[in-house]
Amino acid sequence: MRSHSFIIKIFALLALFLIAGSILASDRPDQPGRSPAQPVDDEYTRKILEYTTKPYFKSPLVDYLPASPTVPTPKAVLGDIAGAPGKLPYSAEVYRYMRMLEKATPRVRVYSIGTTEEGREMIAVAVGSDENIAKLEENRARLAKLADPRTINMDDSTADTLVTESTPIYYITGTIHSPETGAPTALMELAYRIAVDDSPYIKTIRDNVITLITPIVEVDGRDRMADVYNWHLAHPGENYPPLLYWGKYVAHDNNRDAMGLTLKLSENILNTYLHWKAQVLHDLHESVPYLYDNTIGDEPYNAWLDPILTDEWQLLGWKNVSEMTKFGMPGVFTHGTFDTWSPGYLMFMAATHNGISRLYETFGNGGADTVERELQPGEYERTWYRQNPPMPKTLWSQRNNNNYEQTGLLISLHFFAENSKMFLHNFYLKSKRSILKPQNEGPAAYVFPADDPRLVDQAALLRLLQRQGCEISRAREAFTVDIPVRRPPRGPEEGAPAAGGDGQQPRRPQPKTEAHTFPAGSYIVRMDQPYSRIADMLLDYQYWSPTDPQRSPYDDTGWTFGELFNVKVVRVTQPKVLEAPVERVQGEVKASSAVNGNGTVFLVNNAAEPALIQLRYRLKSAEISVAEDPFEASGHKYNRGSFIIHKVDAAEMARVATDLGIQAAAADSAPSVKSHPARAARIAILHSWQATQTEGWWRMALDKLGIPYEYISTQKVAKDSDLNLKFDVILFPPVGRGGPQQIIAGLPMWGNPLPWKKTSLTPNMGTDDSTDDIRPGLGWTGLENLQRFVQRGGLLVTVMDTSDLAVEYGLTQGVSIARPQRLKLVGSVIKSRLVDGASPIAYGYDDGVSIYSFQGPIFNVSNSVGGRGGRRFQPEGEERTTGRGTRGDPDTPQGRPTADIPEEPRSEAWQATPLTDEQRRNNVGLIPPVYRPRVVFRYADNRELLVSGLVDGGTEIAQHAAVIDVPVDRGHIVLFSNNPIWRGETIGSYSMVFNAIVNFDNLNAGRKLDEK
Ligand SMILES: [Zn+2]
Repeated sequence: MRSHSFIIKIFALLALFLIAGSILASDRPDQPGRSPAQPVDDEYTRKILEYTTKPYFKSPLVDYLPASPTVPTPKAVLGDIAGAPGKLPYSAEVYRYMRMLEKATPRVRVYSIGTTEEGREMIAVAVGSDENIAKLEENRARLAKLADPRTINMDDSTADTLVTESTPIYYITGTIHSPETGAPTALMELAYRIAVDDSPYIKTIRDNVITLITPIVEVDGRDRMADVYNWHLAHPGENYPPLLYWGKYVAHDNNRDAMGLTLKLSENILNTYLHWKAQVLHDLHESVPYLYDNTIGDEPYNAWLDPILTDEWQLLGWKNVSEMTKFGMPGVFTHGTFDTWSPGYLMFMAATHNGISRLYETFGNGGADTVERELQPGEYERTWYRQNPPMPKTLWSQRNNNNYEQTGLLISLHFFAENSKMFLHNFYLKSKRSILKPQNEGPAAYVFPADDPRLVDQAALLRLLQRQGCEISRAREAFTVDIPVRRPPRGPEEGAPAAGGDGQQPRRPQPKTEAHTFPAGSYIVRMDQPYSRIADMLLDYQYWSPTDPQRSPYDDTGWTFGELFNVKVVRVTQPKVLEAPVERVQGEVKASSAVNGNGTVFLVNNAAEPALIQLRYRLKSAEISVAEDPFEASGHKYNRGSFIIHKVDAAEMARVATDLGIQAAAADSAPSVKSHPARAARIAILHSWQATQTEGWWRMALDKLGIPYEYISTQKVAKDSDLNLKFDVILFPPVGRGGPQQIIAGLPMWGNPLPWKKTSLTPNMGTDDSTDDIRPGLGWTGLENLQRFVQRGGLLVTVMDTSDLAVEYGLTQGVSIARPQRLKLVGSVIKSRLVDGASPIAYGYDDGVSIYSFQGPIFNVSNSVGGRGGRRFQPEGEERTTGRGTRGDPDTPQGRPTADIPEEPRSEAWQATPLTDEQRRNNVGLIPPVYRPRVVFRYADNRELLVSGLVDGGTEIAQHAAVIDVPVDRGHIVLFSNNPIWRGETIGSYSMVFNAIVNFDNLNAGRKLDEK
């Protein structure tokens, strides 16, 4: 037995030697390569080489795995190596491994950082030298001082000492996008390498950086993706369903939530980043061959960033590319097409909080299959920023992906370790410069006036800033500062000449500022704080030039939060604002609530805030009526749509008012104003199986407000011929994929069924809704059922592409949609105008509210079926025909008596042109006045259309209807061109939908009918 085991040992050593012989050994800290003194795990190493499809898809950093007698490799959990084909671990397996590491070595610690919407755990794993990990807290305390230089009196020499003593934190996050599957195994192996590898190169990292890892950001989506992959393995040769739900609410957009912070993953990552005072947030994605370091990106750069950061991007990005290029790894590049304008990406949490944002796109196969991949020319062609492009065609494996991810990360970590003092000093400088903002570039503060009529939503926006880490102050007394005089916008329609020069009259000088007094109790977001940058970025205005060289914005171009929340926010540049007597707000900002007066009837004003619909559902047994006209009571003014509440006891009213932060007034009797009952409508949110993301933002909004609804699919609608039995209101948010035809047709029925449901093989699927086959769509029956639902008195709310569906398939009458020719409206904040303030949909709104629009459908309205709407009279600026007289005269045909020219009916772009007697005669398409589309909001005139973002060719949509209420038989269809519920950012337009819901059976209130 003894000699036998001896022989095995000899063979093992020999094998080790053979493998090790091909591996670069290095004892230099600046060069990668295994430590000559440390054995490699030969079996693991052999598998790395086996699963890597070409020699040039690996590097000297990852072509071996060091062996440890005490620390388990990822194989302990995976049964194979990281990145092995056919294995996609669940979150539980990934976590189990990280906790095994924690048990086996003092160099690893695992922290629970919160849970997901579905209750799954999120973790962060810290890896570093024994000493760095043992002294994490002391280090964190030092970093906290660098993060807030006010704590060291902005003293640079104290900062220098802290920098010398501190170790930076590099935070890596994996697989936020669930079909991008490689990161978890790459990060398991990375943690092992940093903890175990004794090569001087890795030791440099371990000693000089604390690597923090969240291996899975979207945990709910990861487990579902593992299900889908396992289903695919169990059904070889069949199509497998696309990953429909990633997180509970949204898919890809989970990486657009860094502004609104509505998702648990955003909250948990930001809290971790801020708690640790990390210097980097590096997010891993997979959609580009082979490693696109999009950190540097392309212009336009976000305008609020410290230039120190954008220089750091260049440093890190190019270091990454040049080192991997030297390793001979093809397809590694930076720059590319990604613009860094929007701060909505997860990684941007670092950019907006004085750190460094980074992102890799590596290449993935959407699972763990090894697949022959063929690229498109745009992907493999050489360009100035991609001198060593990917291969046009190659066999690609998940191990290749893991090699690229780890190699890039290790190079970055090493560069960061070597320059840790510079990066820490930069961190301090950026934090300090954020505090110096008022004296430097400004502004000095943003003021939220106490006399804003929308204090509930004001508080909501202030709470968002608090979650972003901002400090909020409140004025103890009134204060006066100079603020800019707002001039009416000068737009393309005016073509006003520039002042002065060329002999033109110089413009009369106008005062640039005016003194303004803000009342006591106004909130102040001071810019002399470390996280001033994120507040400035969210509250300021954005302008994306139509002539910008960047032709395809990567995401939304405008987001001004004060506008989208419909609350007043005043940008103040005068540093004097910082002298206003204030107190720091302790705890969450909350609107003050009260029930004033005595009596059994309660009055609540409608200020178009979501709190009002919450009230309807919270006071379940109360009788609530809605005022159709403005009224006054006890000296207070109430808008149309205000609530008059009966049959609720005072204690309950007080409790709910406190919860919602609203003001109510008690009265002995109801005011004498025309009103109608507000019943708690039974709501459904309708989704297609084509895509479930954009509607996910709607579900989330209702869930957060506690508004009950049933979640139904187009397939369910197709099977239910009496939807009115269960629902009063069906919300059909945008599908965002395929258009109206595909919503109806669904996916082609050839091939195999594509189930989305919970089974023992797929335990994480089908949680919110399920089907045996996602392919069938709404179908003609479904369309008919929706039509019947409306005809019998239901309310259907449609938005963007579902409005397109309602119009194109004839559910509405008198509305048509013009196709844009050169309109470019890319996720912008747009000004609307109020057309019919008596419509219940407009209750509580002032004129000029900002809305979010993304290439919204261009509505035209008409008084006859089949009419295309639009102006009948000669468009402005167009010439009369050639003839007698001056330009303004009529022509006079010769040789017959002159005839009076009848006056053409005139209308605006949002109106239906009145029909002439000629057109009305025997016109079967003539819509009776009671069924004509009622335009409630329209897009503003072109010159004032843009609030924030990008509008080009705006004349095509300017002035056209934005929100239309179409009466259909006994019910209504409300069509939206804007998206009123988007990414938790558009709180100000939520009430357009909620008003419709609350007044679903009285939408004709206040309506003035045409005479003929
Ligand atoms: Zn991605």
